[in-house]
Amino acid sequence: MNERMLRELELAEIVTLVQGGSRNAEGGAEDRESVSLESKAPPSDSRLPAFASSMTWAELRTAVASCEACGLCRGRKQAVFGVGSETGPWLFIGEGPGADEDEQGEPFVGQAGKLLDSMLAAIGLERGRDTYIANVVKCRPPGNRTPTLDEAKACAAYLDRQIDLVAPKIIVALGKTAAVRLLGNEQASLASLRGRVHSYRGRPLVVTYHPAYLLRTLPDKAKAWEDLLFARRALRAAA
Ligand code: URA
Ligand code: SF4
Repeated sequence: MNERMLRELELAEIVTLVQGGSRNAEGGAEDRESVSLESKAPPSDSRLPAFASSMTWAELRTAVASCEACGLCRGRKQAVFGVGSETGPWLFIGEGPGADEDEQGEPFVGQAGKLLDSMLAAIGLERGRDTYIANVVKCRPPGNRTPTLDEAKACAAYLDRQIDLVAPKIIVALGKTAAVRLLGNEQASLASLRGRVHSYRGRPLVVTYHPAYLLRTLPDKAKAWEDLLFARRALRAAA
């Protein structure tokens, strides 16, 4: 474990607790230790239209770059496709590009991205190695607003094809927008979705906080750390 990373994440104390076998006082649901798969039919809007379901990576990339299937195309400098290991085994899914991502054409390169990189490092991962990073929508919503359900739906075929192509052993939904898009449960709080292994397109999926939220809500970093350890256990169980 990298000490400096953990200090940066303000997680050193939590790691000691976890490694010492004590349960974190902020602990999650009772069933956090078990990693049984909660199987559920995918939301109906996740079915792939024929146009994307058989695309190769190159075809998908080209289609996204020129897509005008929703209004977000009008405000983008460029579509932000995704980055990293095209064979997983980890797949992290955020919400949508912000200003930095729109500028650079890569997901999570701004402030939230720096925190995501630290979170990855804390579990021995790094951008581009063993990890693919994508977003629910590929084009920047104006003013960084949350994408609407319709926009998420318009972009769903691309994300679903990315998921099928990566074939990840574990999907981590970062924040509410990704969780709602993948699990279809608009009413559920993010807290209630944590600590369980859900399923999406036959793949294990866990839910944690979005890094941008964690930047504003430091105490919940400890919970995100728990979630990543939980995800790692789920991956091992699925392997
Ligand atoms: N937030 C996201 O959800 N995705 C990005 O790519 C950047 C910030
Ligand atoms: Fe197309 Fe998705 Fe961009 Fe909308 S957000 S224009 S669906 S690529």
